[in-house]
Amino acid sequence: MDCVFCRLIADGTAHWMAREEEACAFTPLNPLAPGHTLVVPTRHCAGVFDTPPEVLSASMLLVQRVAAAMRTALDASGVNILSASGPGSEQSVPHLHFHVVPRWTDDGISTWPTGQSRHRGSGRTAGRRPRSWRLRAIRRSDGMTTPPRAVCSRGRRVWTRGVRRWASPPGAGRGPRPW
Ligand SMILES: [Zn+2]
Repeated sequence: MDCVFCRLIADGTAHWMAREEEACAFTPLNPLAPGHTLVVPTRHCAGVFDTPPEVLSASMLLVQRVAAAMRTALDASGVNILSASGPGSEQSVPHLHFHVVPRWTDDGISTWPTGQSRHRGSGRTAGRRPRSWRLRAIRRSDGMTTPPRAVCSRGRRVWTRGVRRWASPPGAGRGPRPW
């Protein structure tokens, strides 16, 4: 087994905060702040792309509990949750992990990126495309949906995203416009 986190979990050699069936929490080797914690799935998952939903849910629930404990036990005023998956994301260990970093208003660190990506798209997303085009491409690749585009005519049928539907619900013609 050459995954450093899997080895850690198998050997039990870590400063544990939690060891549970689906997820574990422990202290990293070089903490960014007092109480900085890593939350990882107990079984090997390389990143967010291959983690089963129930494992991801359990991991995020443990992230939430760790964050809440930081406020209660360490008087942290907030937390940062950092994670990376896949090439180009600066993932250091290819086993999904969430850094939970407690923050205080006077801690003097910043975990927020200060630069902007130089990437300008590739393949079908290359070139100067409008933001709406990119959003639509992402939505279509997963079947994600959004509510119909806002409509501003009452009581008549309109076309929204190719679907003929009522512009407003029955009865909405009375009283002030809700939009
Ligand atoms: Zn692993």
